[in-house]
Amino acid sequence: MTVSKSRGHVVISTEECKGCELCIEACPADVLILSDKFNTHGYHTSAYKGQGCTGCGICFYACPEPGAITVFKRWDQMTEMADCPHCGGEYKVYSTEDEPHLLICTNCMKPIKDSQ
Ligand code: SF4
Ligand code: SF4
Repeated sequence: MTVSKSRGHVVISTEECKGCELCIEACPADVLILSDKFNTHGYHTSAYKGQGCTGCGICFYACPEPGAITVFKRWDQMTEMADCPHCGGEYKVYSTEDEPHLLICTNCMKPIKDSQ
Protein backbone atom coordinates (compact mmCIF):
# COMPACT_ATOMS: atom_id res chain seq x y z
CA MET A 1 0.00 0.00 0.00
CA THR A 2 1.29 3.45 -0.87
CA VAL A 3 1.05 5.64 2.21
CA SER A 4 0.07 9.18 1.41
CA LYS A 5 1.80 12.00 3.29
CA SER A 6 -1.22 14.22 2.84
CA ARG A 7 -2.79 15.95 5.84
CA GLY A 8 -6.06 14.12 5.28
CA HIS A 9 -7.31 10.90 3.76
CA VAL A 10 -10.70 9.85 2.49
CA VAL A 11 -12.28 6.43 2.02
CA ILE A 12 -15.35 5.95 -0.18
CA SER A 13 -17.60 2.99 0.58
CA THR A 14 -18.31 1.83 -2.94
CA GLU A 15 -21.44 -0.07 -1.93
CA GLU A 16 -22.98 3.02 -0.25
CA CYS A 17 -22.02 5.49 -2.98
CA LYS A 18 -24.68 6.30 -5.62
CA GLY A 19 -22.33 8.22 -7.91
CA CYS A 20 -24.14 11.56 -7.63
CA GLU A 21 -20.79 13.40 -7.88
CA LEU A 22 -21.71 16.01 -5.24
CA CYS A 23 -18.53 15.26 -3.31
CA ILE A 24 -16.44 15.57 -6.47
CA GLU A 25 -17.89 19.01 -7.21
CA ALA A 26 -17.54 20.11 -3.58
CA CYS A 27 -13.92 19.09 -2.97
CA PRO A 28 -11.78 22.25 -2.93
CA ALA A 29 -8.58 20.24 -3.41
CA ASP A 30 -9.98 18.47 -6.51
CA VAL A 31 -8.82 15.07 -5.33
CA LEU A 32 -12.00 13.05 -6.00
CA ILE A 33 -12.92 11.53 -9.36
CA LEU A 34 -15.68 9.33 -10.72
CA SER A 35 -14.41 5.78 -11.07
CA ASP A 36 -14.93 3.94 -14.33
CA LYS A 37 -15.84 0.83 -12.31
CA PHE A 38 -19.39 -0.09 -11.31
CA ASN A 39 -20.51 -1.12 -7.83
CA THR A 40 -22.98 -3.97 -7.36
CA HIS A 41 -25.90 -1.52 -7.71
CA GLY A 42 -24.68 -0.45 -11.14
CA TYR A 43 -23.34 2.97 -10.18
CA HIS A 44 -20.02 4.50 -11.05
CA THR A 45 -18.66 5.59 -7.70
CA SER A 46 -16.53 8.36 -6.38
CA ALA A 47 -12.87 7.54 -5.76
CA TYR A 48 -9.90 9.24 -4.11
CA LYS A 49 -6.97 10.14 -6.35
CA GLY A 50 -4.67 9.03 -3.53
CA GLN A 51 -2.87 12.28 -2.70
CA GLY A 52 -3.75 15.81 -1.68
CA CYS A 53 -6.68 15.43 0.71
CA THR A 54 -6.56 18.10 3.41
CA GLY A 55 -9.08 16.44 5.73
CA CYS A 56 -11.41 19.44 5.49
CA GLY A 57 -14.53 17.22 5.61
CA ILE A 58 -16.49 19.16 2.97
CA CYS A 59 -17.12 16.02 0.91
CA PHE A 60 -18.56 14.28 3.97
CA TYR A 61 -21.10 17.07 4.50
CA ALA A 62 -21.93 17.24 0.79
CA CYS A 63 -22.73 13.53 0.53
CA PRO A 64 -26.42 12.52 0.86
CA GLU A 65 -25.59 8.86 1.56
CA PRO A 66 -24.88 8.02 5.22
CA GLY A 67 -21.71 5.97 5.54
CA ALA A 68 -20.48 6.56 2.00
CA ILE A 69 -17.57 8.84 2.94
CA THR A 70 -15.15 8.66 5.83
CA VAL A 71 -12.62 11.45 6.27
CA PHE A 72 -9.46 10.97 8.31
CA LYS A 73 -7.84 14.06 9.75
CA ARG A 74 -4.18 14.22 10.91
CA TRP A 75 -3.43 11.43 8.43
CA ASP A 76 0.22 12.50 8.04
CA GLN A 77 0.70 12.05 11.79
CA MET A 78 -0.55 8.46 11.80
CA THR A 79 2.37 6.13 11.27
CA GLU A 80 1.36 2.76 12.66
CA MET A 81 0.72 -0.01 10.14
CA ALA A 82 -0.90 -3.36 10.88
CA ASP A 83 -1.96 -6.53 9.12
CA CYS A 84 -5.72 -6.34 9.07
CA PRO A 85 -7.35 -9.63 10.13
CA HIS A 86 -10.48 -8.74 8.15
CA CYS A 87 -9.36 -7.61 4.71
CA GLY A 88 -5.96 -9.28 4.75
CA GLY A 89 -3.69 -6.43 3.75
CA GLU A 90 -1.24 -4.23 5.60
CA TYR A 91 -3.00 -0.96 6.19
CA LYS A 92 -2.54 2.17 8.17
CA VAL A 93 -4.44 2.14 11.42
CA TYR A 94 -6.31 5.02 12.93
CA SER A 95 -7.78 5.89 16.29
CA THR A 96 -10.61 8.35 16.63
CA GLU A 97 -10.86 11.16 19.15
CA ASP A 98 -14.08 9.62 20.49
CA GLU A 99 -12.53 6.19 20.98
CA PRO A 100 -8.74 6.67 21.21
CA HIS A 101 -8.13 3.08 22.31
CA LEU A 102 -9.84 1.61 19.26
CA LEU A 103 -7.68 1.11 16.17
CA ILE A 104 -9.43 0.62 12.87
CA CYS A 105 -8.23 -0.51 9.47
CA THR A 106 -8.43 2.43 7.08
CA ASN A 107 -9.17 0.12 4.17
CA CYS A 108 -12.16 -1.89 5.42
CA MET A 109 -12.99 0.32 8.44
CA LYS A 110 -13.23 -2.64 10.82
CA PRO A 111 -11.54 -2.64 14.24
CA ILE A 112 -8.06 -4.21 14.28
CA LYS A 113 -7.39 -4.22 17.98
CA ASP A 114 -8.41 -2.61 21.20
CA SER A 115 -5.35 -1.33 23.06
CA GLN A 116 -7.26 -0.50 26.24
S1 SF4 B 1 -11.82 15.93 3.07
FE1 SF4 B 1 -11.74 17.87 1.84
S2 SF4 B 1 -9.88 17.68 0.60
FE2 SF4 B 1 -10.33 15.62 1.39
S3 SF4 B 1 -11.51 14.64 -0.27
FE3 SF4 B 1 -12.98 15.57 1.18
S4 SF4 B 1 -13.43 17.63 0.36
FE4 SF4 B 1 -11.57 16.88 -0.65
S1 SF4 C 1 -21.57 12.54 -2.67
FE1 SF4 C 1 -21.68 10.49 -1.73
S2 SF4 C 1 -23.11 9.32 -3.03
FE2 SF4 C 1 -22.48 11.15 -4.19
S3 SF4 C 1 -20.69 10.45 -5.40
FE3 SF4 C 1 -19.87 11.30 -3.50
S4 SF4 C 1 -19.67 9.51 -2.09
FE4 SF4 C 1 -21.02 8.92 -3.79
